[in-house]
Amino acid sequence: MRKIAIYGKGGIGKSTTTQNLVAGLIEMGEKVMVVGCDPKADSTRLLLGGLHQQSVLDTLREEGEDVELDDVRKEGYGGTLCVESGGPEPGVGCAGRGIITSINLLESLGAYEEGEGIDYVFYDVLGDVVCGGFAMPMREGKAKEIYIVCSGEMMAMYAANNICKGIVKFAESGGIRLGGIICNSRKVDNEEEMIKEFAKRLGTRMIYFVPRDNMVQKAEINRKTVIEYEPDCEQATHYRNLAKCIAENDNYVIPKPMPTDDLEKILIEFGILD
Ligand code: ADP
Ligand code: MG
Repeated sequence: MRKIAIYGKGGIGKSTTTQNLVAGLIEMGEKVMVVGCDPKADSTRLLLGGLHQQSVLDTLREEGEDVELDDVRKEGYGGTLCVESGGPEPGVGCAGRGIITSINLLESLGAYEEGEGIDYVFYDVLGDVVCGGFAMPMREGKAKEIYIVCSGEMMAMYAANNICKGIVKFAESGGIRLGGIICNSRKVDNEEEMIKEFAKRLGTRMIYFVPRDNMVQKAEINRKTVIEYEPDCEQATHYRNLAKCIAENDNYVIPKPMPTDDLEKILIEFGILD
């Protein structure tokens, strides 16, 4: 079973990209579980056809400790298993707590056991800050591979670099490795070349360049992944390609995060900052 965490700045496209590439893996015949680790609890919406998934934290709050796997895990597109960790009420407690609670609960309920036949588990993790609960999938070795979703926008790259610092911190103890950078395009000038170079300097590689396409919004309004909504469109092909790149990846590293100055130099070099 491959345990993969997808990190990246809020709004960069982690949930969209994860669900779409998961749809690609489903077409390849894989069995996949997606665990949403964002207090927004919207990591599985497209796989569940818009169904509002009750989060693990809400379920525990309402039903007490006596819960079953089916109470917190719903079946979605192509048999994907969908879980949302959820978060505390706004302003109360650590937003990362849901992740710890849900992974522990899933483990105790046997979700990761051989008999479940799961090939991939994806953790969709909010990652502006690699603090407390958000670092948990890395810290405790719950995820072995990390992919960072990034674009050519400075703040997305800044967050990616910070996430790399978090990976370095836990790589030795938890055995986690960076599998690559997924560029989710924001149509920044020279974006593909710049992210390739950025990834290289981090000691990894850009595993795929996902173009920006309004088809993503169209599918989203219809509560579907692009692959389900418009299987023959170009964007669907991109997500299938991304799924294939991840399935075939054999490049795992401990990244080399860079000082902020160096990050800014890359932006200048590629003409983003003048
Ligand atoms: P995150 O999970 O990182 O917070 P989301 O996956 O929710 O981000 O994406 C934020 C928004 O960006 C979504 O509403 C989605 O429609 C849009 N989006 C993401 N990727 C693309 C893309 N490749 N092309 C067009 N829109 C995209
Ligand atoms: Mg999200």
